[in-house]
Amino acid sequence: MTGTAVQVERGVYTSALDLFSIGIGPSSSHTVGPMRAAADFRDRLADGGMLAAVVRFGCRLDGSLAATGVGHGTPDAVIAGLRGHRPETVDPAVVHGAWALLDAGRALDIGGVRFTRDDLTFAPRERPHGHPNSLTLRAELASGDVVEETYLSVGGGFIRRLGEPVVADAAGPRPVTPNAPTFRSMRELLDLSRGRSIADVAWEAEVSVHGAVAARRGLDAIWTAMRACIERGLHSDGVLPGGLRVPRRAAAAWNRLAERGESTDAAEAVSIYALAVNEENAAGGRVVTAPTNGAAGVLPAVLYQSVAATGFDLELIRRFLLTSTAIGSIIKANASISGAEAGCQAEVGSACAMAAAGLTAVRGGTPAQIENAAEIAIEHHLGLTCDPVSGLVQIPCIERNAVAASTAMTASRLALLGDGSHIVDLDTAIETMRQTGADMSSRYKETSAAGLAVNVVEC
Ligand code: SF4
Repeated sequence: MTGTAVQVERGVYTSALDLFSIGIGPSSSHTVGPMRAAADFRDRLADGGMLAAVVRFGCRLDGSLAATGVGHGTPDAVIAGLRGHRPETVDPAVVHGAWALLDAGRALDIGGVRFTRDDLTFAPRERPHGHPNSLTLRAELASGDVVEETYLSVGGGFIRRLGEPVVADAAGPRPVTPNAPTFRSMRELLDLSRGRSIADVAWEAEVSVHGAVAARRGLDAIWTAMRACIERGLHSDGVLPGGLRVPRRAAAAWNRLAERGESTDAAEAVSIYALAVNEENAAGGRVVTAPTNGAAGVLPAVLYQSVAATGFDLELIRRFLLTSTAIGSIIKANASISGAEAGCQAEVGSACAMAAAGLTAVRGGTPAQIENAAEIAIEHHLGLTCDPVSGLVQIPCIERNAVAASTAMTASRLALLGDGSHIVDLDTAIETMRQTGADMSSRYKETSAAGLAVNVVEC
């Protein structure tokens, strides 16, 4: 029983406070995870009394982290982590620009240690640890000794030190009550939900991990950060960084909607909210991983639209997040939420299912209708590849979130129009996603080696 992915006997529950971690853009696996890994490495050096003796740092990025890391801000994140910053607290402005300086031949200072372009190596074709996202951090000490640690960035900002369980943060394991309700499948969750809601089950698990006060405070902080991100995005314009010269569209679209003076169309509004979040993410701003940064716009957009339309209160917002967490936990435990592991079906598809489930719950849906909504959302993302142009989380990612937010609303509506009975159950849809991801060529899994990434010519 270790790490924040709580494991009690047969079940696995990933806390909402980990599944929705407050971090920075543009990528949970390529920015947030590597920053956590580098900060953890630094902490270990400090704990061992070795940090002051370091004369040289090094970092090797393998697989997808090397293939699309520059576009995803991985070098900047690693350097920030080595400097002791953490994604949940760092000012995004502090992180950006390190790679640009290194690439221009400048040297950086990491706590008195000189760091140059040569200290960072990229091995895009290699997967020495059998995972698409691995990085190895290295410290040479004044004594001549070398300390090395390898980490896997497994999606959603979660990291795993080679040979150890997954953690969301370097803070280590959190206490858990052994009889907390846990589940590994939708079938088990439905059993636990007899006579109560899915949100009630998830709440009980959250309380066992964090206690009621911290769990409530954490959920409210997640919503506050999601809302702030949308509102920043609705008032920011300009061109996104990275060289594709993608213009930000959310603010102009929002203004056009306001000028029209009609009552806001829900489908248009939810799409614009998703654009706002993903533009903030692409700009490297403060976002909530939901359950990844590439897919960070879907769920907040649906939740924000629902709050705007119905004005529902904090208690319902918490129920939305808890229900989404229960579904996200099952997907994470049985398939993947990482584009590098299983393509975009695992990122945007999972986000869509979580949003559809949360929305169905707060609209009064039964557990069976919630399952139906999540299953519809997953089913219609099966096979979706990850092929970001220039390795940037912009094309197709930003619009894809807008489309998926609308799909989540449609999935919820379809489920609520039925009685909860459906032919394909969620567990089957998730297993199909896992199998499809395993069969998918690595060229379509966040390597920018196929698809739109090779067919769109960068000007
Ligand atoms: S294509 Fe999908 S999985 Fe890939 S980076 Fe974009 S949002 Fe993430």
